[in-house]
Amino acid sequence: MRIDDLPIRDELKGKSPYGAPQLDVPVLLNTNENPYPLPEALVARIAERVAEAARHLNRYPDRDAVELRTALAGYLTRSTGHPVAREQVWAANGSNEILQQLLQTFGGPGRSALGFAPTYQMHDLISRGTGTAWHQGPRNEDFTVDLDAARAAIAGLRPDVLFICSPNNPTGTAVARGTVLELYRAAQAVKPTLVIVDEAYTEFSHQPSLLPLTEGRPLLVVTRTMSKAFGAAGLRLGYLAADPAVVDAVQLVRLPYHLSSVTQATALAALEFTDTLLGYVERLKAERDRIVAELRGLGLAVTDSDANFVQFGRFGDSHAVWQAILDRGVLVRDNGVPGYLRVTAGTPAENDAFLDAVRGVVKDAARLPLRTSLESETE
Ligand SMILES: *Cc1c(COP(=O)(O)O)cnc(C)c1O
Repeated sequence: MRIDDLPIRDELKGKSPYGAPQLDVPVLLNTNENPYPLPEALVARIAERVAEAARHLNRYPDRDAVELRTALAGYLTRSTGHPVAREQVWAANGSNEILQQLLQTFGGPGRSALGFAPTYQMHDLISRGTGTAWHQGPRNEDFTVDLDAARAAIAGLRPDVLFICSPNNPTGTAVARGTVLELYRAAQAVKPTLVIVDEAYTEFSHQPSLLPLTEGRPLLVVTRTMSKAFGAAGLRLGYLAADPAVVDAVQLVRLPYHLSSVTQATALAALEFTDTLLGYVERLKAERDRIVAELRGLGLAVTDSDANFVQFGRFGDSHAVWQAILDRGVLVRDNGVPGYLRVTAGTPAENDAFLDAVRGVVKDAARLPLRTSLESETE
């Protein structure tokens, strides 16, 4: 039997599950992970805190994750200079679960969500998964949000939830503070709308966090994750900051005891090492900027990046170029954005391997077989 022969919900028919190919290749630069393993001292601290949690595993975890939310609020306050209280923070198993809880609360059947494509595919999939109709507005040619088109889409579609991804995945584009304010205003002018600012990559950005905008805007939510900057994708810890009423509202849909004691203990240990972990972010930002400069030096079209990855093109057949880079031992991401591919900033050695592979592909293309598939943008 095939999936579509099962009596599944209509909005799931014909869809593919989210996920990049997991191939066995020497250099993996396709899922925006942090390439640096956690330091040994942190590994030891995790073991200690998890052992302590294990002594109480006969009991349910702290349902309200009070200690963890207090630590996350402390991190947000220190890193943004904007005071955030524990009551404004909520945590879950990855920011994808946070997004799901928000859509279960503010979206759902008969309601709709709007985002600006190309953007993070999970915004679409989680919307559908919660029965929320998904719509997407366009972007400008440089992948910034097209404000006029956005205003028109908001007025026409009257969405219940608006997604702003900053920095945006897969383009790397940060959304300017003024644009977020304008979108929030435009949405509220139509009807009360939950505006979700997905800041999964904010620690890598050239621009400050948009979190202070939550002040006085009860329907603006900032979502964050420890998967990228904290180098803890395997931990599965995401969180949000918003008006305490939003935190109270998601309690209506969260599963009881959704965040295990082991997860809470591990996240608390990682937060003790915030300064060390964010030290790697500085290295990755420098590597990201190097990748942008070197790809531009090869004559490629490279989107400005505020994240730990870089979108580059333009290719007549981006999938053929993806394959040619893979044949040289480097896995990058083909997100289906026409003409473009995405590479995650890795260690300097991994990035060298990637840049060598691209140079090889560009050189080959100048000779024969890929000529039709690789064409630098003529600007
Ligand atoms: C990676 C990513 C996330 C993080 O998801 P987790 O569930 O926290 O691992 C969220 N939003 C965007 C845009 C991402 O790229």
